[in-house]
Amino acid sequence: MTQPGLDSAAAATRWRAPQAAKEAAWRGGRNRCPRCGEAVLFARYLKPVARCPQCQQDWTLHQADDFPAYLAILISGHIMAPAIIAVASREMLPLWGLMVLTIGMALGLTLALLQPAKGVVIALQFWWGLHGFEHPARPEMP
Ligand SMILES: [Zn+2]
Repeated sequence: MTQPGLDSAAAATRWRAPQAAKEAAWRGGRNRCPRCGEAVLFARYLKPVARCPQCQQDWTLHQADDFPAYLAILISGHIMAPAIIAVASREMLPLWGLMVLTIGMALGLTLALLQPAKGVVIALQFWWGLHGFEHPARPEMP
């Protein structure tokens, strides 16, 4: 017998469907399949696998577009701004040093955050049933 709220495919295997949007987003942000949490989501840096080998979810349906890049830039900017202001206000570095530090931090943080941001966006599109994804089975509200 299938447990209420569980995906029927999940009941036949050992993986567990996410129970909330934040669980699906957490899985996607850690490069895990948002549906099963078992297999990797990305085949390459920003290229999701076509189909999850564990739960058979089709990931070609996502349309993340530029939103992950906006998120990565927004978050890295909020991390960088206090650091740059602290370094610049105390004149700890010459101007060229501050420029090298700023460009290096911007590139490093943005590239580091881009894949997790895309994973979160894909996971939330999956959870909310956007762009061709079917709504996943969800636990019943009390
Ligand atoms: Zn999966």
